[in-house]
Amino acid sequence: MAGSEFDDRRGAVAGGLAERKLDAFLAAFSPNLRYLTGFTGSNGNLLVTPEKSILFTDPRYAIQAHSESAGCRIKIAKGPLTPEVAGAIARLGVKRVGYEPARMTCDLYESLKSRLPMRASLQPAGGWIEELRMVKSPAEAECIRRSVRTNSRAFEWAVARLGPGTKEQDFAAELEYGMRRLGAERPAFETIVAGGVRSALPHAQPSAAPLKQGGLVVVDMGAFERGYASDMTRMLFLGSPGAKVKRVYKAVLEAQLAAIDAVRAGVAAARVDRAARATLEGHGLGRAFVHSTGHGLGLEIHEPPRIGKRDKTRLKAGMAITIEPGVYIEGWGGIRIEDTVLVTESGCEILTPTSKELLCI
Ligand code: ZN
Ligand code: ZN
Repeated sequence: MAGSEFDDRRGAVAGGLAERKLDAFLAAFSPNLRYLTGFTGSNGNLLVTPEKSILFTDPRYAIQAHSESAGCRIKIAKGPLTPEVAGAIARLGVKRVGYEPARMTCDLYESLKSRLPMRASLQPAGGWIEELRMVKSPAEAECIRRSVRTNSRAFEWAVARLGPGTKEQDFAAELEYGMRRLGAERPAFETIVAGGVRSALPHAQPSAAPLKQGGLVVVDMGAFERGYASDMTRMLFLGSPGAKVKRVYKAVLEAQLAAIDAVRAGVAAARVDRAARATLEGHGLGRAFVHSTGHGLGLEIHEPPRIGKRDKTRLKAGMAITIEPGVYIEGWGGIRIEDTVLVTESGCEILTPTSKELLCI
């Protein structure tokens, strides 16, 4: 990502301070720091004022901060960052400092507050950077495209190695190994591989159980590549599926396609959720669909908007979201199908290239 893109993002924050009645904004949450500066270290604070941005970190990240965040003033703190940040707030004479309540521990908040000069105060400004992050730039969309491609290639690579009796854990390990070999930094979340009745657990952890003939297998996997997430769920069947598997699979696929069809700039997220939900209700499976239809993704695997019943966010071109309806039946199993898509003015671009036919092996 070009350095100027980070400058522009910090410029947008600096330019938005006045309307939020703030003199400065403090970012301490890693994905937001990365978004605003390019800095990928685990310990950092960024103070944005109308005139300048200062990135605070510790000596472990000195070299890295200078190369990743060239557009910022960089301050290397010898000890904890908070006293340095408070010192800068005092020196710059800023009064109202926006901070991210959901992203800061009470400890850190108290420590910062106790060090501020009398006239300075902390003002909640949560969700601001997350809102900016919702619409991806062309460079970010390209990172997501790449992450999605790698993820799908890793799936194909690992499926080709799947043999009778493979354990869930081993298959998950192969999927993650494949991702890394193909260019990902790491999995975006703990890979889900669950066979048989365990596929009814939407967030099952891979177990030591071997994948059994005649059973459904849910695979939910995602990669981080160049910092950006991908997310995909596919179903496998070992053997030839019976009538119920085929019927439920068809219903979930229909719901997924209906939701994808509803995606377009200007449409409320809840309407996309409604499209999936209504389809499953039509098949008598409404109550078995126990989660939202999808979520935004980018520097985090789950970020706004939420594609759920109550989310009124209007989709915008450039948002990256997942579409993943599922049906979960206790004692039988579960079926979910998930793609990553990019919202466009007239619809969406389905980024996930993997076939959505039930993969029987
Ligand atoms: Zn997923
Ligand atoms: Zn997902």
